[in-house]
Amino acid sequence: MRKTLISLACLFLIIQIVSPQIINKVPLSERITGYKINVTLDTDAKTVGGNLEAFWINKSSDTVPDIRMHLYMNAFRSNRTTFYKESGGSPGENEKDPGWIEIESFHDKNDVDLLPMMEFIRPDDGNSEDKTVIRVLLPEPALPGDTVFVKIDFVTKLPSAIRRTGYTDNYFFVAQWFPKFGVYEPAGMRYATSGGWNCHQFHANSEFYSNHSVYDVKIKVPESYVTGSGGQLISETLDGEMKTLVFRAEDIVDFAWTAWTDYASYNDKWRDVNIILLIPKERIKQVGRQFTAVKNALEYLDQNVGPYPWPHLTFVDPPSIGAGAGGMEYTTLFTSVSSYFMPDFLHIPELVTIHEFGHAYFMGMLASNEFEEPWLDEGVNSYWEERIMDHYYGKNSGVLDHRMLKIPDITYSRLSYVLSPSRQVISNNEYSWNYPHGTYSMMSYLKTATWLHTLEGIVGQETMNNIFRQYYKKWAFRHPSGRDFVNVVNEVVRIDHWDKFGPDMNWFFDQTLYGTGICDYKVSGIINRKYSKPAGKTESADTVITFWPHSDSLYTSTARLERAGEIMLPVDVLIHFTDGSELLESWDGKARYKDFKYTGYREIQWVKIDPDFKIRMDVNFNNNSMTKDPPKVPLHQLISKITTFVQYFLSVMLL
Ligand SMILES: [Zn+2]
Repeated sequence: MRKTLISLACLFLIIQIVSPQIINKVPLSERITGYKINVTLDTDAKTVGGNLEAFWINKSSDTVPDIRMHLYMNAFRSNRTTFYKESGGSPGENEKDPGWIEIESFHDKNDVDLLPMMEFIRPDDGNSEDKTVIRVLLPEPALPGDTVFVKIDFVTKLPSAIRRTGYTDNYFFVAQWFPKFGVYEPAGMRYATSGGWNCHQFHANSEFYSNHSVYDVKIKVPESYVTGSGGQLISETLDGEMKTLVFRAEDIVDFAWTAWTDYASYNDKWRDVNIILLIPKERIKQVGRQFTAVKNALEYLDQNVGPYPWPHLTFVDPPSIGAGAGGMEYTTLFTSVSSYFMPDFLHIPELVTIHEFGHAYFMGMLASNEFEEPWLDEGVNSYWEERIMDHYYGKNSGVLDHRMLKIPDITYSRLSYVLSPSRQVISNNEYSWNYPHGTYSMMSYLKTATWLHTLEGIVGQETMNNIFRQYYKKWAFRHPSGRDFVNVVNEVVRIDHWDKFGPDMNWFFDQTLYGTGICDYKVSGIINRKYSKPAGKTESADTVITFWPHSDSLYTSTARLERAGEIMLPVDVLIHFTDGSELLESWDGKARYKDFKYTGYREIQWVKIDPDFKIRMDVNFNNNSMTKDPPKVPLHQLISKITTFVQYFLSVMLL
C-alpha cells in the first residue's frame, strides 16, 4: 500500500490526529497509531456499537505483509478461551453473561473489503477457541513509511462485570472494548532481532502493551448517564433522550470510559492539571481524601521522577455494584476504591489511588511490554507507591495508622515476598502467564518492589531518584525493556558511586532480578573471652599486653556472622560494647562466614547486621541481631512475631 493512494478520509483522520495538537503543543510520542471511534451505548442490550477508523504507520525499514489487532473482549466469549482456561476453566457465579466483540465490516482506505483476509490467530498457545487476536493480510504489503488505514464496523457486547470491564445493572465500565493494533517491533527495539508484530492473546495473568495513540472518541449515551473517560471532554450535545460526548486524548496507550446514572462529579486542580473525580453521590466524605491522595502522588512523582505531561486526569471511585472495576489504570483515567464508611486510620483509598495513579508513569509514559516484563510496570510502580504512602501518611503508618497497630506500606511487599513458599522461582525470563505456582503477583509486584528498596538501601535514595529521573528522561514514550532499565541504573551509579561500586551494578541484578537465590544474613554467635596471658614456652613478645597493660580486665571478643543465603550484598554491621561504645563495620557480604574480632577492656554486648534495614530482601530479620545475654523471657521477640503475623495477615487480605 503506497502513500500516494491515501484516500481523503484517511488523510483527514491522519491530519486531524497527527497535526493540530489540540491538547499538547508538541506531540509527546511518535504517534504510530491513531483512532477515531464513534459508538452508541445500548443500556438494555449492554452493547457498545459503531465504527472505528484507525491508522498504523510502518516506521520500520521492513516490508510488512499484514496487520495484527487485539480483540480483547473475546476473552469473555466462552469458558474455553485462553483467559478462562488459565483462570480455572469456567466463569464464576457472577460472571455468567459473556462478553464478546464482533467485526461487522473491515475495509482499507480504498474501500477494499478486508474481511476475507481476516483470520484469528493464537500466537501464544494455539488454543483454537481463543479469538482475541486477528491477523489481516493486506492487499499490498506496507512498505517502510507507509500508512495503513482501516475502517471497521464493530459491536461489543459487555460482559457482566469481570476483570475491570463490563456492566452491573445500569453501571458500565467500558475497557478493552475496541479493535486495537498490536505493536510492530522493528529489529533493535527491546529484544527484537528481526521485525515482527508483538500482539499477544488476552491472558488471565497479564496486562497490556500498546503504542501511544491519539484518540478522538464520540460516545452516545442516554441523557441521564454521567460519563467519564481518559480523554478531555471537547463537546456535549443533547439529542432528545440521548446525548453525544466527544472526547480527545493524546499520547495515551489505552482509552476506557464509564457511564452510570448515580455518579457525582467533582473537579480540582493541581498546577495546570484539571482533575475530575467520579464517585457515588453518598460517598461525599471520601472526596477530600481522594483528591489529597492524587495530588500527593502528582507532587511526589513530579519531584522525584519527572513531570506529569497531560493537562487532564479523571479518576473513578466505583460504586459497590461496580467494585470489580476498582483498582485499574488507563493512563489518564484510573479507578480507585473506597466505601461510605472508611475509618481515617485505614489508608486503603489513598493506597489504591496512589498506586493506580503511579501507573500513568510506568504503564502510561514508559509503556513497557507488560505481557513479557510485567515487573517494569507493577513492581516499579509498587516501589513508588510504598515510598509515597510512607512519605505522606507516616514512615511507620502508611497503610494503617491506629494507636494499637501501625503498618508502613514498605513492609507490605517484603512480607508477602519473604513469606511466599515459591519465592525462588526463576525471575525474569517468563512471560506473565507462564509464572509457575501462581507466582505472577509475587514476582512482578512484590519481589521487584523488594529488590528496588534493597537497591535504594545500597546506592541511597538520592541516587535512586537520579536513576528514575534519567530513566524517565531517556525512555518516556519509548517502551523500554528491562535491559534498558538496568543500563540506566549502571550509567547513573557509575557517575554517582564509581568509587564504591565500580563500572556497573550487574552483580546486583544478576542475583536479584535475574537470579533465584535468597538473601539471608545472620549473627551466629558472640564470643567474649578473658584474655589469657602467654604461658609456657612462648617464642615472641606479647604485643597485646604491651598495648593493653591491665590484662586482668582484658577481653578478646568476636562477632560471628554468616551468609545463610546465596545472594551476596554489602551490609553494615553495628557492634555494641558493654561500655556503651559502638562500631559500625562494613562487610562486603561475600564470604560464607565472617568474624569481626576486637581486643579491649570491653565485651561485645550485642550485634546487629543491617541496623537500618537497607537490605530488605533479607528474608529473616529475626536472625540479624544477637545479644550477649538474651532475656529469659524474650517478650519483645514474641511481640515482634505477633506483629509480623498480623501484618502478613492484613497484607494477604489487601492483595
Ligand atoms: Zn498496579
